Amino acid sequence: MREIFASLVFDRREMKQRLPQDVYENLIGAMEGRQKIDSGIADTVALAMKDWAVSNGASHWAHWFHPLHEHTAEKHTAFLTADAEGAPIELFRGKDLMQSEPDASSFPSGGTRSTFEARGYSAWDPTSPAFIIKSPKGGTLCIPSVFIAYDGSPLDLKTYLLRSLDAVESRALKLLKLFGNRGVRYVRATLGGEQEFFLLDRPRAQKRPDLRFCGRTLIGSKPPRDQKMEDHYFGTIPPKVLAYMEDVQRDLARLGVDLATRHNEAARCQFEFAPNFSEANLACDQNQIIMETMRKLASQHDLRLLFHEKPFDCLNGSGKHTNFSLEDSEGRNLLKPSTNHRKNVIFLSFLTSFVLGASEYSGLLQASVSTPGNLYRLGGQEAPPFIMSVYLGDTIDRMLTAVEKAAGRDEDMPEKSTLDLGLDKLPTIIAYDSDRNRTSPIAFTGNKFEFRAPGASQAMAIPATFIFAIWAAGLEKFNEKFSAHLKKGADVLDAALATIREVSKASRKIRFEGDSYSEEWRREAEKRGIVKAETIPEGIDLFLEPKSVEMLSKLGVFTPREMEAFHTIRLEAFVNSIEIEISLLRDMMFEGFLPSISKQLKLENESIASVKDMRIPHIDAWKKHIELLAKSKAEIIVKTKELELLKEKMAELEPREHAEAIIVKALPLMKKIRELCDEAEGYISKENLAYPKYRALMSLSTQLSE
Ligand code: ADP
Ligand code: MG
Repeated sequence: MREIFASLVFDRREMKQRLPQDVYENLIGAMEGRQKIDSGIADTVALAMKDWAVSNGASHWAHWFHPLHEHTAEKHTAFLTADAEGAPIELFRGKDLMQSEPDASSFPSGGTRSTFEARGYSAWDPTSPAFIIKSPKGGTLCIPSVFIAYDGSPLDLKTYLLRSLDAVESRALKLLKLFGNRGVRYVRATLGGEQEFFLLDRPRAQKRPDLRFCGRTLIGSKPPRDQKMEDHYFGTIPPKVLAYMEDVQRDLARLGVDLATRHNEAARCQFEFAPNFSEANLACDQNQIIMETMRKLASQHDLRLLFHEKPFDCLNGSGKHTNFSLEDSEGRNLLKPSTNHRKNVIFLSFLTSFVLGASEYSGLLQASVSTPGNLYRLGGQEAPPFIMSVYLGDTIDRMLTAVEKAAGRDEDMPEKSTLDLGLDKLPTIIAYDSDRNRTSPIAFTGNKFEFRAPGASQAMAIPATFIFAIWAAGLEKFNEKFSAHLKKGADVLDAALATIREVSKASRKIRFEGDSYSEEWRREAEKRGIVKAETIPEGIDLFLEPKSVEMLSKLGVFTPREMEAFHTIRLEAFVNSIEIEISLLRDMMFEGFLPSISKQLKLENESIASVKDMRIPHIDAWKKHIELLAKSKAEIIVKTKELELLKEKMAELEPREHAEAIIVKALPLMKKIRELCDEAEGYISKENLAYPKYRALMSLSTQLSE
């Protein structure tokens, strides 16, 4: 792996080798966000990039970007063209590198742009390196880019993310400066996403239209040995899966992505990959690359890969735990506790700033994970609830409580001794203490926060944008208060402690150390007034909470109009996704499931007729059984038609009303149909059943019988 690592990335090593010194330095400056890219160097960089790409077999180049629908997009252009005399030349100019003009009309904009103003352009993002995606006969040089409409409004996720990263960086730098730290050149956000997924035997999974088109099962009863098979978690990875994982790891290594861990997850056929964390923008790009690579290789291994948050009703769902922190230009993690008093005060300042932001704007965190897939996942017994809270762990919680109580009066506030209580023992305590509470949506896990609510299929850029925006908002408030204390002439550490105390008190309501799955917590959260939304559409509406819109606009992350468009897109994504499920459920009923019942009825009726001259005890029970099956068929027909009609009616509604009707009317109907099917399934023979059962789907070995 070592030799191939990052061999398909135009990384700093390649740049250094292939670029003149001054060009290289300008580029690095731009990558670190210290300076703008000098347009005069674009031709030189483009030429070097092209030579490198062609020598690695690439025949095309493409601006690679993340439209608002969460997938990636690229439009390939060949390097090869003809010159004026008709002779072949390979062309890739500075202006091709800097900017490209894909037709924007088919990407979502949320109404910020009408289709006749379809023009949009993608522009090179030098902070994330270019890479080559290999194909059987060549490859494509992918240039990470932002994607913007001609009026400047973003049509992608990266632009918002970069704005949010800017916002948090400047506030973090300001805080460090207030502490008197002038040597720090930049602060960067770090991100590490743990990717959960399911792998199924492809031929069997492909027999189910629901898995093929929705990535989740719409019907299917629980297998006899369900997810509580503890032997699976961290158990031996099945050979077929391991072979796949090794291929994924090799291809990703070439793309400079190092996957640190791989293991079985809680449910059968569920697994996880976790990369080493990296700078947030790069981490989001890399998560997209991970998902694309995994998709591509799964079919080659005859596997069906599922990123859906809840592929099976009764089994654990898949999340993308999003770990995050901030790091300064010296490589210091700003969320790392320390035994040094000063450093520890800085640590607590960053920590409480995030908690403050989370407390004020928890609605945005909730909105960022209000996705169609999470509809079925959050609030289950295995995933965090839909109520946002922060868990800090015993040590930090005690420390903050001590700071809060240290003094009622400002003058005797800065109790070094109070803080020192736990400080000497801190590193060891932290190591034991962190991450014990797996029920919390946001947990401090020793030296980083972990947001556990994001779903496996989500583009990490969405939760990341809001995580860092609310952190920036928290830092902004912290800095204001801190500056005020300093102006009053307080010593730096005393001023910081006084600020930590205020901020910590102000954000208590979001902190919860107990079991977030419990009923008591729900009641307690209601009392605290932090239950913001009960359903996914209500969660999406939290994007429009006035104070959040104001904050995002002040920070320069979203204008109010952009936020409205973003809200519309999320809402449409929800509606479209459930609409597809409704159509498929309808089709699966009439094409497969209802005929299955008929076949079974025919079999039963024929066999009961064949014994009609025999005197069989309990024949009435058999007749009753047939009757029940026939009745369930009739009931499924009634409910499916009802759903069909509802779908037609809902199509006339505005998106928000449509989403509401889905929650109130469509989902209960779908649930009812599913219950009827799952019960009937138990009475249909394997031969007569149109779709493979959970039991068959859950088997990864071809030898195992269904
Ligand atoms: P667990 O399953 O216990 O949460 P893992 O080791 O599976 O732990 O995942 C931890 C994730 O957190 C990894 O992706 C890792 O790279 C990431 N991580 C660790 N430190 C940081 C940090 N400072 N900033 C962002 N992510 C981090
Ligand atoms: Mg984790």
